[in-house]
Amino acid sequence: MFEKLLVANRGEIACRIMQACRELKIQTVAVYSEADADALHVRLADEAVCIGPAPNKESYLNAANIISAAVITDAQAIHPGYGNLSETASFAEICEKCKITLVGPPSHVMALMGDKVRARRTVREAGVPVVPGSSDVIRDVREAREIAADLGYPVMIKPALGGGGTGIRIIHNPEQMGPALDAARAEARAAFGSGDVYLEKYLSEPRHVEVQVLADNEGNIVHLGERECSIQYRHQKLLEEAPSPVVNSSLRRKLGEAAVKAAHAVGYRSAGTVEFLLDERGRFYFIEMNTRIQVEHPVTEMLTGVDIVREQIRIAAGEKLSLEQGKIWFNGHAIECRILAADGNRDFAPSPGKITRWEVPSGPGIRVDSGVTVGSVVTPYYDPMIAKVICWDQTREGAIARMEGALRGMKVEGIRTTIPHHLRILGNAYFRRGEVDTHFLERRMTPVEEG
Ligand code: ADP
Ligand code: ADP
Ligand code: MG
Repeated sequence: MFEKLLVANRGEIACRIMQACRELKIQTVAVYSEADADALHVRLADEAVCIGPAPNKESYLNAANIISAAVITDAQAIHPGYGNLSETASFAEICEKCKITLVGPPSHVMALMGDKVRARRTVREAGVPVVPGSSDVIRDVREAREIAADLGYPVMIKPALGGGGTGIRIIHNPEQMGPALDAARAEARAAFGSGDVYLEKYLSEPRHVEVQVLADNEGNIVHLGERECSIQYRHQKLLEEAPSPVVNSSLRRKLGEAAVKAAHAVGYRSAGTVEFLLDERGRFYFIEMNTRIQVEHPVTEMLTGVDIVREQIRIAAGEKLSLEQGKIWFNGHAIECRILAADGNRDFAPSPGKITRWEVPSGPGIRVDSGVTVGSVVTPYYDPMIAKVICWDQTREGAIARMEGALRGMKVEGIRTTIPHHLRILGNAYFRRGEVDTHFLERRMTPVEEG
C-alpha cells in the first residue's frame, strides 16, 4: 500500500478521500490555492502545499505545480477526485512518466473514454447499445443536416471532449443547424480546447441512469448497481438516488452487464461510471463513461456497503478486487442532495460569503460529506457545491422522510443554499411517485413566488 498520497482537489471530495486514506493508514498531502489557505481540506491533511493563485487554471488545474508538490513531499500516488484534472489524459500520462501512481485508469483508457465519439464507437462495437447518432466528428453543416434528417429532429449537438453539461445544444430543424453548429464549435473550443462535435438523436423524456463499476488490474470487473440521476439543472445533477424507482432486478442485471461489457471493451481499471439514458419502454442507451470517482458515489456506498474510494485506492496500489458480483447485495434505498452555495429559487445564482452557522444533521442512516465548516469562506472561484447530504432507509418513502427531516435540521447562515429548493423537490407529488425524467425541474416544479 502507498505510504503517502497527494489529493489534487479541494472541497468535500478532498475531505472524503482523506478519510479513506486515514483508514488505510496512508499519510495525506493537500494542495491548495491562495484562496484556500484556511480551507477544511487543508486542515484535515498531514501536510499541505500551496500550488498557486485562486483561479482554477493557476492552481487546481496547474499540472506542473501539482506534480512538483508530489515530488517535494515524496507522495507515491495522486488522487484527482472529480472535475479539475481527474479526466485529463495528458495529466495521467505525466504521472505515468514521473512514476507517480494516479488513482484512476491508465492514460490511454482515459483518453479513449474522454473522446465521446471514440467511446461511442468502441462500446457499440462491443455490443452495448448507444444513442443513435453520428459515427464520427461532424465535418460540416451539410453532413450535419444529412445525419439529422436520417435521425429525425430534434437532435443534439455535443462536444466530443465535453463534460459537466457544457456546450450541449438541441436542434429542432435544418435552419437552426448552421448557426448552432458554429456556436457549439466555438463553445467547445473555448471550454475543452477542441471544436470537435457530434450529433445524437434527442430523446424526449429520458431518465439518466448510470452504473457504478469497479475493475482491478487483473481484468476482474463488478458493477454496484444503478443510480437514478434524472433531476438535473442545466444538464447538471442536483439530487440522485439508488436504486432507480423504475429499475427491476432483471433490468438491473442487463444494465450491469452492459456497463461491465463497456468497461471490458477498453481494458478499464479503477472505479468508473457508465452513463445511460433510459426510455419509457425500458430501453437504454450508452451516453458516456466517466473515468473517475463521481459526486454521487455515496448513494451506492449506502446501498451496497462498499467503500468505493477505498477500493479505488486499493486497486491503484495493485491489489486484487475483493468483491465478487454474486456477493454484492443492494439493501434499502439511498438519496443524495447536493448542497450548493446558490439560490435554487433564483436560477441558481451563486451565493458566496462567510458561513456564520453550520449545523449538520446526524442520526441513523444520515451521512454528510462536507467541504466546509463554520467560519469557512465560500469564494466565487470554484464550483458552488459545498456539501452533500445522503440519507438511507429500508424503503424509498422512508429515505425521503429521513432526508426531509435531515434538511430541516440543517442550519446554515451567512450564505444561501439549495436546501429550500431540495425540500420542494422532496415534497413534489411526481417525485414522490418516482415519476421523474431529465425535464423534471422545468416541467414538474412550480416557480417560487418572489418575496
Ligand atoms: P458527476 O456525474 O460526478 O456529477 P458532473 O458532470 O456533475 O459529474 O461533474 C462533476 C464536477 O466536475 C462538476 O463540478 C462539474 O462542473 C465538473 N466537470 C465535469 N466534467 C468537466 C469537464 N470536462 N470540464 C470541466 N469541469 C467538469
Ligand atoms: P456530459 O459529458 O456533459 O455529462 P452527457 O452526455 O453525460 O454530457 O449528457 C448530460 C445530460 O444531458 C444527460 O444526463 C441528459 O440529461 C442530457 N442528454 C444527453 N444526451 C441526450 C440525448 N441524446 N437526448 C436527451 N438528453 C440528453
Ligand atoms: Mg455525463
